[in-house]
Amino acid sequence: MTEFQQLAHELINAGKQLYGAGILPATSGNLSARLSDDSIAITISGAHKGFLVENDIMPINIRGESLDGRKSSAETLLHTGIYQRYPSANVVLHPHSINATVLSKLCGDWLVLQDYELLKAFSQITTHKYSLHVPVFDNDQDIERLAGIVDENLKKMEVVYGYLIRGHGFYTWGKDMTEALRHVEAFEFLFDCELKLQGRK
Ligand SMILES: [Zn+2]
Repeated sequence: MTEFQQLAHELINAGKQLYGAGILPATSGNLSARLSDDSIAITISGAHKGFLVENDIMPINIRGESLDGRKSSAETLLHTGIYQRYPSANVVLHPHSINATVLSKLCGDWLVLQDYELLKAFSQITTHKYSLHVPVFDNDQDIERLAGIVDENLKKMEVVYGYLIRGHGFYTWGKDMTEALRHVEAFEFLFDCELKLQGRK
């Protein structure tokens, strides 16, 4: 099995898992993983992420250009922006969860998560006494413009594990699939807690 095929299978399994958790509905979201040559395996545009097959995963370069002539996910530039900014990121996951969608509409420019034991699920956070800042960006159908705004803000931040897009979903990443999936699960739990605290659930 090639490295591409191995990562494609990790993406297929992650799609099943996240769809099963109800956070990748109706062809939304996108998933990607970086290969050792810095190319990226990413879901094609329009595929249902709960029922992916190997042919639904395609190669792109770090600038987001197709390497097989097909069209990659509409939000490709948000994935490549993360890979360019964080050399240690090897998997990027973008769920469209109800929690992220609703909570992002209730926040200003930031969501601050603090005094939660589960913050320790994020790599390198070792105590609940931590304020995790999650930037919230306004949604935009012009992905190139949105990717520019996201990167402008991420580069000012020392520690960032993910960001919200208002009324849309969230992005998170990890050094491998296990870590990226753990970050998705932790964010979902914490978004759920925040909505309950606000009396919205
Ligand atoms: Zn999206």
